[in-house]
Amino acid sequence: MASKPSWAKSFSFTLDFERGMPGRILATWEDSLRFLDNILRERKVQLYHVFVHWHPDPDLTHYCGVTYIDERRMAFCSGNDKSTMLHELAHLEFGLHEHDAKWAGKLIDLHQKYLTGKELEKADADLVKDYKAAAKVMKRRKARTETSTPKRHRQHHRRGSKSRV
Ligand SMILES: [Zn+2]
Ligand SMILES: [Zn+2]
Repeated sequence: MASKPSWAKSFSFTLDFERGMPGRILATWEDSLRFLDNILRERKVQLYHVFVHWHPDPDLTHYCGVTYIDERRMAFCSGNDKSTMLHELAHLEFGLHEHDAKWAGKLIDLHQKYLTGKELEKADADLVKDYKAAAKVMKRRKARTETSTPKRHRQHHRRGSKSRV
């Protein structure tokens, strides 16, 4: 069993991991957990405890991550990636238990702020594929930006011509 490496003691939350988890597996979690910790600190969101699962059988299906909002703790299993970290943060920070439109809106905002390029594209695409509410929110936002852009443009011209007399 791995002993706790120094990076695992550097977070704003206490990190524990599955008994028997090899050190090389724990090491693969450093980047994702550091990403989560940096954002928690930046946004001043308190998380007390994180538990990372591990199964000797890699084919065992399990959850990506889970957040116990009231206890301010999270557990992760297969979700060793930034999009899972943001998914759980959206539950924790805003106290949203369901995968509803409100949660999806907050998560889409988090994607925009903390992901770029291909990572952002993939996170958005996966979210829309996996959650109906997210697909609706994304569709609504796209429609809004498509109609609002030309309107803003017209207004700008009208105002501009008046003030420049
Ligand atoms: Zn598990
Ligand atoms: Zn969730």
